[in-house]
Amino acid sequence: SKHLGRNGFNFYNEALNKNLQEHMELVSDLHKALEGGQFFLCYQPKFDFLTGEINSAEALIRWNHPQKGVIGPDVFIPVAESSGLIVQIGQWVIDAACEQCKKWQEFGFYTLGVSVNVSAVQFQRDNLEIVVEKSLSNYLLPANKLELEITETVLVSDTDIVKEKMAKLRALGVKFSIDDFGTGYSNLNYLKNLEVETLKIDQSFVKNCLTDEQDRAIINAIVQMANSLQLKTVAEGVEEEEVADFLKSIRCGAGQGFYWSKPLNSDEFIAFLYAQNNS
Ligand code: C2E
Ligand code: CA
Ligand code: CA
Ligand code: CA
Repeated sequence: SKHLGRNGFNFYNEALNKNLQEHMELVSDLHKALEGGQFFLCYQPKFDFLTGEINSAEALIRWNHPQKGVIGPDVFIPVAESSGLIVQIGQWVIDAACEQCKKWQEFGFYTLGVSVNVSAVQFQRDNLEIVVEKSLSNYLLPANKLELEITETVLVSDTDIVKEKMAKLRALGVKFSIDDFGTGYSNLNYLKNLEVETLKIDQSFVKNCLTDEQDRAIINAIVQMANSLQLKTVAEGVEEEEVADFLKSIRCGAGQGFYWSKPLNSDEFIAFLYAQNNS
């Protein structure tokens, strides 16, 4: 093969070593990032079709790497999960999001909520109810302002531990949404007993819905089901006005996407809120 070095085994070992070395470097950099305050959150508004207002924003983590610049979560969250660091990173995210949401209140945006992504590994390993309670009380933030975005993976595991943890968080007043809804296997039982408030319709269905009739049918089915179960819906990845119009016409609850705004850093997001208020 043209990919062989001096001999195949050497090349393979070198490639493997390089990968392993890069991986270990990333893990050690992630530790430093946590200690050195290199993470920051961006916020992307969710637009409520009924009221025409921004009622919530999703917190999305970014890493300001001293050499490599800003790195997105798709690059480092999987590494954080496999190394277990996701627990500490996730705690930082929850705390920072609560602090920010309190600031929005102090700026006069009392109704604005914040949602935080919680990965399956983090949900299973961490004592989330303790972490969340601590952050809420740190900033005197009402629990109903915090929403946790979990994936179907968490719900599928369906263990007593998961159920118990969700119940404790719900007892605090925290809300749940199912992220990327429709892409995994959903245990529809969770939709029944008011254990989640919101379905976030995955952007893969939304992206081409103007041209793809099947995508439109799936979105429609999810929204109809959600509406009859009195669950809220948020469509992700809305980039065009026509998509927003379609979603509104089928009585989807809210939209999120570049059409309204890309994720903004905390200063940009405050400016965005003021601009919305004055328009
Ligand atoms: P997600 O939770 O599905 O977040 C939505 C992603 O879609 C975000 O990418 C967002 O920037 C992007 N997006 C929003 N609107 C549009 C649009 O109109 N068009 C397109 N093409 N993309 C759009 P981002 O910020 O790179 O995050 C990627 C994923 O990383 C997230 O997917 C989430 O699974 C994960 N993630 C982000 N922040 C955190 C975090 O704090 N903790 C954990 N565990 N995971 C996180
Ligand atoms: Ca999300
Ligand atoms: Ca999503
Ligand atoms: Ca996603």
